Amino acid sequence: MIELREVRKSFVVNGKPLPILNVAEWSIPHRERIALIGPSGSGKSTLLHLLSGVMVPDSGEVWVQKQPLHQYSEVKRDRYRANQVGYIFQDFHLMSALTAKQNVELVIPADWSKKQSKEQLDYWFERVGMQDREHHLPSQLSRGQQQRVAIIRALITKPPLILADEPTGSLDWETARDIMSLLLDLCEQEGLTLLTVTHDLHLAQMYPKQVHIGQLNELARREVI
Ligand code: ADP
Ligand code: MG
Repeated sequence: MIELREVRKSFVVNGKPLPILNVAEWSIPHRERIALIGPSGSGKSTLLHLLSGVMVPDSGEVWVQKQPLHQYSEVKRDRYRANQVGYIFQDFHLMSALTAKQNVELVIPADWSKKQSKEQLDYWFERVGMQDREHHLPSQLSRGQQQRVAIIRALITKPPLILADEPTGSLDWETARDIMSLLLDLCEQEGLTLLTVTHDLHLAQMYPKQVHIGQLNELARREVI
């Protein structure tokens, strides 16, 4: 369960505060899968950053699974993000010198046994159809395959919240549809909450729920069509 209350966020530009977000109230039930849509510059990524704990609001409350992120220190937010959030980026953010498998191994918790790690890695690579690509470098994979690796990395530890910021923004249409469908299915099967920013209204329609940023953000309201 996620709850935002009276959240405000501004950035200081040329010495002046530039208001970006003003969200009176938003709650997302556990296991919901939501497509967040809205024009460029309307605060979608900023909202994700507040939920991942990279940023804190200037005022207001951000609760994730009963944890008050707005009250947390940076150290506590870093720990929260590492353990409880899976993040998927538009441009994958894979380490270019590491193989697909090594990229995923980076997030495997220290208390997993070798056996458990191997079983889980084999299982997930197979689940996304990449069982024969574990030892490839990112440069030896297609963009769609790189995003599949990034999806494994985000989901393998089953963090309760998955945030995806335009995860299909640099993929062709068919690949984008396949990746979105995979992400939706995996999150449903694992019972994870998924919040995905997308520009593409067709892809957004694949989600059980669509939210326009203007429904949440007072400052983007005039943009709602
Ligand atoms: P979206 O993801 O909807 O395109 P963002 O949340 O990235 O929008 O950004 C919203 C607005 O905030 C934009 O106008 C952007 O220029 C501004 N902005 C974002 N991050 C910063 C920052 N670190 N400093 C100053 N302005 C920023
Ligand atoms: Mg953005």
